[in-house]
Parts: sequence; structure tokens; C-alpha cells
Amino acid sequence: MLPTLTTLQRRKPHIYDLSWLCPQCNSSPETLDHLWTCPYILPEFSPFNTFKTLLLDLRTVCLGKFLSATPLKFLPDSFTVEFTAMDCWDCDPPSNSCLRLARGLIPMSLTSFLGTYFSSSTICSIFDTPLHDFHFDLYVQIWLCRSVFFNHWESAQGITNKMKSSTIGPSPISHPFSQISPAILTPFLATAFLDSWTSWVFSYIIHGGSWISHLDFWRRLTVQPLLRISF
Ligand SMILES: [Zn+2]
Repeated sequence: MLPTLTTLQRRKPHIYDLSWLCPQCNSSPETLDHLWTCPYILPEFSPFNTFKTLLLDLRTVCLGKFLSATPLKFLPDSFTVEFTAMDCWDCDPPSNSCLRLARGLIPMSLTSFLGTYFSSSTICSIFDTPLHDFHFDLYVQIWLCRSVFFNHWESAQGITNKMKSSTIGPSPISHPFSQISPAILTPFLATAFLDSWTSWVFSYIIHGGSWISHLDFWRRLTVQPLLRISF
């Protein structure tokens, strides 16, 4: 289970105020499902847009594999249309089935449709690698970026590593930003990120032979607060 803000609010309500919403969009509680569907303020940096792209890539890859696999019976011409119309690929708005895929579960509707044409072992082996890649990409392209952002957002809230590692219950939190909403705090984050930028680039992941876009990530963290403050 990824430690989303709602999970942290449940575990340590004395540190994570129950009224705090997703630090990236400030519009919904940051649940596991929200991680992938967060609208964010800039469409090009939106986790939701990334999620949609990755989900449709998964659909394309899986479809190609099924079309070239050996079926139990002849595949009708309608197979491609029916496969691509399954509700698990419906992500705008996100269906429960597509959120199940994000949790690593293959929806029943999908397996029962595919079970008409393929054995269970074929279905599982075809989904295995693409689903793994899908989760890896979600983790790298959404979760890691969000976590770096979140770490600095926590600092801006006055939340220290010492407080987080403490097993002691509620204690008074006193810091200069405690009465300021997360939305107003975000400009402070831009400079904080500059300090950690280089270490982040050298610490995080090369996937598919190319770096995650440094420039995009930098812009996401620096441009977004300036726009947000105009709200
Ligand atoms: Zn959000």
C-alpha cells in the first residue's frame, strides 16, 4: 500500500491534518485511486493524463499480443472492437475496472471476455509483462514525481523526519505555516526544489533508455505554483 496522504492521515492524524486535500490539486482527498486520476493544475503535467496514456498503451500492447497468440477458437473480426470497448479501458471518467488494473487486478469482465477465446494460462502470460510494465511506469512517472513533491510539501507544513518517525501520539505542532493553506504555500516549494533537483536527477530512474523528462519535471514544480497563486 502506497502511503498516500489519506493513509498518513489515518495513521498519524496528529501530524497530517484531516482537512488537508491532495497537495497537487487541492481538490480531493489523496487516496490511492486519486493518485492516478489527479487532475493537477497543468494538463500536460497531470497524473491523470499520464495514467490515460499508459492505460491506452497497455491496451495496445495486450491487444497486439492476443491477436498474435494462438486462440482456442477462431477470433471473429469483431474481436478488436470488442476488446478495445471493454470498460476497463474507460478512464474518462475512470471506471472501477480501470482502477482495478491500476491495483494490479485483472477485471472479471475482461477475463471472462478473453476466456471465450484463450486459455487462462495464455491470458495470464500475456498480461504478465505488460501489466508489470504498466505498474512500473505508474510508479516512476506518477508516484516518484509526486513523492518528491510531497516531501517538500511536508517540509513547508513544518513536518520533519523526526516527527514522522516518532511513535508518540498527538503533540502540539507549532510552525509558522500551520495556519496557511497548502495552496498558498506552494510558491515556497519552487526554491526548495531547486536545491534538491540535481540529487533527484542523479538518484532516479532510467526507464526504457531515456530519462524522465527533467525539463518537464522542473517546470511542473516551478511553473505550477505561480499559476496556482492566481486562483
Ligand atoms: Zn490531486
